[in-house]
Amino acid sequence: MKAGIVAVVVLAVTIGWWYFGNSDAGVEGSAITAWKCTKPECGQTFHLTVKQLSDFYKVHYGEPLPCPKCGSRAQRVTNRPAATAPAGGM
Ligand SMILES: [Zn+2]
Repeated sequence: MKAGIVAVVVLAVTIGWWYFGNSDAGVEGSAITAWKCTKPECGQTFHLTVKQLSDFYKVHYGEPLPCPKCGSRAQRVTNRPAATAPAGGM
């Protein structure tokens, strides 16, 4: 039961980032996610590939991603560029 939920979450994250984040990285699974430590004094920023992120959630399902520097909770940074108009819409 739980394994099924994990699979769905991992799949959704992977597909989501492949779909929305593939402008920078063309190779599937190598898209980069940006993270920032929520502790103001730390402010550490770091990056994970979708693959690394998926691997983390496989092991730490439901847990927040820890800051590699201080261990505090990290928050995903979504600094997507302004949406570009779809070319030749239907
Ligand atoms: Zn930190």
